[in-house]
Amino acid sequence: MTAQGLRSGTPRADSLAHNYHPLPVTVATAEGAWVTDVAGRRYLDLLAGYSALNFGHRHPALVDAAVRQLGRVTLTSRAFDHDLLHPFADALARLVGPLTAGGGPEGRGAMVLPMNTGAEAVETAIKTARKWGYDVRGVPPGEATIVVATGNFHGRTTTIVSFSDDPDALRGFDPYTPGFRTVPYGDVDAVADAVDDTTVAVLMEPVQGESGVVVPPDGFWPALRELTAARDVLLVADEVQSGLGRTGTTLACELWGVRPDLVTLGKALGGGILPVSAVVGRRDVLEVLTPGTHGSTFGGNPLACAVGLAVVDLLATGEPQARARALGETFHARLAALVGAGLLDGARGVGLWAGLDLDPARGTGRDLCEALLARGVLAKDTHGSTIRIAPPLTVSAEDLDLGLSALEDALTWLASPR
Ligand code: PMP
Repeated sequence: MTAQGLRSGTPRADSLAHNYHPLPVTVATAEGAWVTDVAGRRYLDLLAGYSALNFGHRHPALVDAAVRQLGRVTLTSRAFDHDLLHPFADALARLVGPLTAGGGPEGRGAMVLPMNTGAEAVETAIKTARKWGYDVRGVPPGEATIVVATGNFHGRTTTIVSFSDDPDALRGFDPYTPGFRTVPYGDVDAVADAVDDTTVAVLMEPVQGESGVVVPPDGFWPALRELTAARDVLLVADEVQSGLGRTGTTLACELWGVRPDLVTLGKALGGGILPVSAVVGRRDVLEVLTPGTHGSTFGGNPLACAVGLAVVDLLATGEPQARARALGETFHARLAALVGAGLLDGARGVGLWAGLDLDPARGTGRDLCEALLARGVLAKDTHGSTIRIAPPLTVSAEDLDLGLSALEDALTWLASPR
């Protein structure tokens, strides 16, 4: 088989593991909110890499930063410092630090620990919380517990799937890591009941992404903040998907004026170019990690820092967040109209982010995504008859309108007798 044959997608050897069921489209190039497949057909990308592409495909400033860095140095490992490592940490601490409980003026009380993937950031937060629990809180060895939510998604490592309640993510990967207590998402009384002297952290998504963009009741995060502060338990917000502009704010926690102790960031931090993640938060907590206790060959590498710095620069202007807020208003109004017209069972979300429920009698989420694909729009089902829409925050109002019209058309088609 020629390289070209492989690239065009036909013929295809069955050498790729089957851990995904992608939609039948083979992307060749992309720019902004649009991708082009190997046959030259264009699609509006309303998934945006599960929020990894908040700034669209190949944002010029991000590509520039990457290309410039490719000509300088790309990897040192953490055995040596490089000249963008501290600037990146400082810039991210300035942007996100004040939004955490580590915030003081200019984020001086905050620290940044760079990693690569979202799951690694979550693992880092779990390890940090446990070590803080033993070293600072005096939890007896081996007894630390962390309270998590039903419907959570935090990644795919063996420890993280140990507290997933999605059977596909969980089953067959035991023995599971102990030390997690699951309570219903959005129920602060259940969290209070689950917290005891062994509890070192409450770890939750401010808005649950993979669960179908589930926004908790307004009082939930403020009550979590109050409870965890009173019990000296760390509040850890997994903002890997919700953070960095998606909800119309830099962090989703800002929606409720809540400053968590630790925040995990990922996806959009890499600008859609490479995996970049980080834990940001209280210096006195992250300081429990000392040389040798945690690390990553690639975490904070020069290329990652160059792109990450450019991402922070974009967010520091406040423009992506403002766009998500402004476009989000018309976006949710149009989705509500689709619910009103009986084309959708439900639509929820915040900013430029929505979970849509189709009447299961009309089809699965997959059916809807295939109908959208046929109309030149990319989206992805989460589970059952629910799909998620997360356009790049750079999408134009006209393109978003086009995408929503395609959605209306696809829903009308699914509702009609076939
Ligand atoms: N946390 C959340 C909230 C996520 O949505 C995801 C990915 N969907 C992750 C963690 C894991 O990120 P990654 O796939 O980069 O490991």
